[in-house]
Amino acid sequence: MIRAIAFTDRRLHREKALPGSLWFMEAEGGESPALWFFCPCGCGDVAHITIGLGAKPAAPPSWSWNGRTDAPTLTPSVRQLNCGWHGWLRDGYWQPV
Ligand SMILES: [Zn+2]
Repeated sequence: MIRAIAFTDRRLHREKALPGSLWFMEAEGGESPALWFFCPCGCGDVAHITIGLGAKPAAPPSWSWNGRTDAPTLTPSVRQLNCGWHGWLRDGYWQPV
């Protein structure tokens, strides 16, 4: 399992580029929040997905988020990466399927 460390500083998140690390983008102007993350596999891919607090936003693809940045959980599983990595983010850890 890979720890999903959440950064509060977007620039630092990009600079460190730690596999599995996160940056949460707050909702703006009625849009859903988003999660930026580096692929847990270490390939360096960075992706962003639309998330909703406790519910999947209407416009797919989207994920339901438990609202925590220190121990985030997403549903369903994440397969949104060029390398083909597929797994779950649960309680702050990435777990391959
Ligand atoms: Zn990867």
